[in-house]
Amino acid sequence: MTRSITILGATGSIGASTLDLLRRERERWRVVALTANCQARELAALAREFGAEVAVVADESCLADLREALAGSGIEAAAGRAALCEAAARGAELTVAAIVGCAGLAPTMAAVEQGGIIALANKEALVSAGDVLMDAVARHGATLLPTDSEHNAIFQCLHGQDLADVRWITLTASGGPLRTWSDERLAAVTPAQAVAHPNWDMGAKISVDSATMMNKGLEFIEAAHLFPVGLERIRIVVHPQSVVHSLVEYRDGSTLAQLGPSDMRVPIASCLAWPGRMDTPCKALDLPALGTLSFFPPDEERFPATRLAREAAEAGGAAPAVLNAANEIAVAAFLAGQIAFTRIAAVVEQTLTRTLPSAPATLDDVLAVDSEARAWASNILEHA
Ligand code: NDP
Repeated sequence: MTRSITILGATGSIGASTLDLLRRERERWRVVALTANCQARELAALAREFGAEVAVVADESCLADLREALAGSGIEAAAGRAALCEAAARGAELTVAAIVGCAGLAPTMAAVEQGGIIALANKEALVSAGDVLMDAVARHGATLLPTDSEHNAIFQCLHGQDLADVRWITLTASGGPLRTWSDERLAAVTPAQAVAHPNWDMGAKISVDSATMMNKGLEFIEAAHLFPVGLERIRIVVHPQSVVHSLVEYRDGSTLAQLGPSDMRVPIASCLAWPGRMDTPCKALDLPALGTLSFFPPDEERFPATRLAREAAEAGGAAPAVLNAANEIAVAAFLAGQIAFTRIAAVVEQTLTRTLPSAPATLDDVLAVDSEARAWASNILEHA
């Protein structure tokens, strides 16, 4: 039996890992839509290889390239935000939501509204629009499968259990490449150093988020929406080896953990095969070779992002969307060489001191908060 699949963000790191798994079981999958921002030629090559119905670039200026690269293939080419949502709404049985940033929110919502299965990697969508997105999931009978490795681990550890029996959900964090750097060195970090993650091979934005620990902050908010046990029951522990992907402790004192190699194909495979399992080419864990696994409390003095995220989650309303938008602006400025690494969290904190709009109740409200917060953060950057 073939299954239909759409990949939003097919040219990215998660997209590549997903397509690698599909390639190994090519006959099982019918590809509906593949999307990118502007990597038109790469997208066209993937669409041809997988026989996609439609390929979409978000950036309309890249449509001509996409059309040219797809000429004679019979594959539809489209561009723009509306086209992304239309592609997501084609009703694939499984949609992998792997666009980076809040840009992925509207297409993810379009997929949710079809009531299918969504493998959600795009954490920023859930951080910005948590209640709105989760309400839509419930209303449309969609199934959200967490693809982020930590949330996928928790999802697996919670299987068949009652949330009321959970004492703690513990998110593990590698601590990123700069975990042991001095304050002086942190102030002078280059983008290349920040994206050089010791364990994971990921896109640039999430790699910087890992280095600032904002990734764990976003994941804290993500976990609160996916597994509503209460914020006070979710905690973060630094685990530099990235072998234990997260843990759930139950009220009887039992702790279940999910372990695996630092390879996103493991959690992605768990979503693709859900509720079953599939083969992956990932290396088996060699525990004797690993020797020691270590765990530390996070250092929120040097890496304040997890505190900012927790405060935003506690404040609720528009705060998480503002946190996310400000972080996206600050990370882009850092990657462009415009601000120091240590300014990223400072810009987020400053943006959150503004009087925030009321809690967003619809997708349009979230997008309005997002765009307003981007403007504030940009303004803070200009006047620094
Ligand atoms: P990448 O930067 O590698 O890929 C991002 C994808 O989104 C690309 O296909 C890119 O297209 C597309 N894209 C970028 N901007 C836009 C836009 N404005 N509109 C539409 N499409 C856009 O990111 P990752 O694959 O690393 O991450 C994707 C998501 O998954 C993120 O939310 C991240 O936090 C999450 N995630 C990633 C993990 C990882 O290991 N990489 C692990 C856990 C979660 P183009 O190529 O044309 O730029």
